[in-house]
Amino acid sequence: MEFLAVLFDRDGTLIVDKHYLGEPAGVELIPGTGEALGLLRSRGVKVFVISNQSGIGRGYFPESGWHACEKRLGELLEPFGAGIDDERFCPHAPEEGCTCRKPATGMWKSLKAAHGLEGARCVMVGDKAEDLRFGMNAGLFASVLVLSGKGMKSAEKLGLNTDEILAGGFVPFSVPEQGVTRLFAAKDVRAAVNGLLAL
Ligand SMILES: [Mg+2]
Repeated sequence: MEFLAVLFDRDGTLIVDKHYLGEPAGVELIPGTGEALGLLRSRGVKVFVISNQSGIGRGYFPESGWHACEKRLGELLEPFGAGIDDERFCPHAPEEGCTCRKPATGMWKSLKAAHGLEGARCVMVGDKAEDLRFGMNAGLFASVLVLSGKGMKSAEKLGLNTDEILAGGFVPFSVPEQGVTRLFAAKDVRAAVNGLLAL
């Protein structure tokens, strides 16, 4: 399968979830992320970040905090020959009823238009049910749940066998109403990328 792009959730997926992170000093790569994103770049697959940042809408940190953290993330990825090709973030609090907060697809529509993407050749990777749901709502080829961040809890809620996933598997599963999107679970971003590139 030749993918155009992999869309990644950020907190708990690419970097350690620090709960409303607005300080670049707090950006810490989850082990294996740099290598995995470098591998995607070497294969010509674009890497995008799609992130809900309600901490901005709730007044916990300013939008400039997001940009500072993204800059730091880019610096940490550089030694791996990796980087973020583009990003979209939703700054709204949940009660604002916006059209961009995952699992709504506003960020996908914007990214799709900017980069001429096709959903059938893109994948979403994240640590929460809302990330999977986003991929399904956008009609992407696949959504992958990683067990980093809140992923362990998410997997348990879905009734998945986490032993098999933690052992390094790239485990397909299904949920009602998943439509065209395939679902997989993997230990972390490195396992997710290895699994995707083998499809
Ligand atoms: Mg997350």
